[in-house]
Amino acid sequence: MNNLEAARKKIVLPLAKKIANLESQDINILLKNISQGKTVILKNKIHKINKPCAIGKDLRTKVNVNIGASTDVSSVQKELKKLDISVAYGADTIMDLSIGKDIRKVRKEIISYSPIPVGTVPIYEAAQEAEYKKGSSFRMTKDDILDVIERQAREGVDFFTIHSGITKEIIVKMHHLKKRLIGIVSRGGAILANWIMHNNKENPLYEYFDEILAIAKKYDITLSLGDGLRPGSVLDATDQAQLYELKKLGELSRYALSKGVQTIIEGPGHVPINQVEKNIKLEKRICHGAPFYVLGPLVTDVSSGYDHISAAIGGAWASYFGADFLCYVTPSEHLKLPSLDDVREGLIASKIAAHAADIAKGIKNQINWDKNMSRARKSRDWKKQIKLSIDPVKAKKYRTRSKPQASKTCTMCGRYCSLKLTEEYF
Ligand code: SF4
Repeated sequence: MNNLEAARKKIVLPLAKKIANLESQDINILLKNISQGKTVILKNKIHKINKPCAIGKDLRTKVNVNIGASTDVSSVQKELKKLDISVAYGADTIMDLSIGKDIRKVRKEIISYSPIPVGTVPIYEAAQEAEYKKGSSFRMTKDDILDVIERQAREGVDFFTIHSGITKEIIVKMHHLKKRLIGIVSRGGAILANWIMHNNKENPLYEYFDEILAIAKKYDITLSLGDGLRPGSVLDATDQAQLYELKKLGELSRYALSKGVQTIIEGPGHVPINQVEKNIKLEKRICHGAPFYVLGPLVTDVSSGYDHISAAIGGAWASYFGADFLCYVTPSEHLKLPSLDDVREGLIASKIAAHAADIAKGIKNQINWDKNMSRARKSRDWKKQIKLSIDPVKAKKYRTRSKPQASKTCTMCGRYCSLKLTEEYF
């Protein structure tokens, strides 16, 4: 029995019980939200993970880290180090977006070492295999795609990004994309749009959605319905192409739920601050409350080298208005494959965004972390402050780098430490 079926029958499986405890959520509410498609549990039946993760209604906002080799830079060891850093700094999930010669090796290693759920985008491997074996990704067939999905399911992937909403109708017949400042920025979206144009056929991920659902159900894999047409510029945000695809994703999400498969919905991308609320509310309405997984969103296009900050601003707003799952963005976004430091900085930025939104939304117990930190600040207990920091390594480095002259102060105000001056009275 998979997690959705159990929730529908109000059967409490050990995993659901563990999650309810971790999230301090009543088990009956958790099961109800799962059965209605408003919460999902990311776990392939055969993947052993010791940090389970549920995403959805009234739960802590989760953060995903993307890692993976590219065709230009590829090292299995380096990607495993990125996994280690991500887990150490509190990532909730990891996505292996590998492409290139080490694609299968990297994925297998990540799945075997990861204590957190692992996601992939199977169309990458299907397109690459078609290119290697048949000379072009345009020759990729429905069976090639389903074979890769089944193979990755057997290996233990917990959630798949599946771009089923990018249909032939929108690619061939509609002109919205031509009006965009930047056309298609999703890698999976670009592969599929080109395939549709070249073959003049329907997107196989849409046409054979039932076959994909059958695999997902067999392994209890959650489908992350991908936004192949997400905007790549704040000037393209919330355009007709994006909304058309979102509508399709809403239909597919409902259909998947009726077939016993959990889904989440992927979202933008690049969105100016004043459109973030609208984007989240639209998704929640169109997709019947399905969990929303946003990439950033970046609130400006000009933050190269600092895109993690732009994404954290957008992520905090998005999560505050109801997004459930943030995909991190690193400082190397749009520029290069992230380094180990980039992974750490991107993750910390997204975790700050998620937590900031969670305390504002009143997610259970989240404010206690801040309460404890404030107490440690008042008593000027730097050991405790460092321990409670979102990045204790960096906090310790900063504290020890600049020694204060007076005891129990820091070099920011020195002898005029306001907390020390007033400790007798306040
Ligand atoms: S010196 Fe200033 S910044 Fe440092 S702890 Fe005291 S009040 Fe805070």
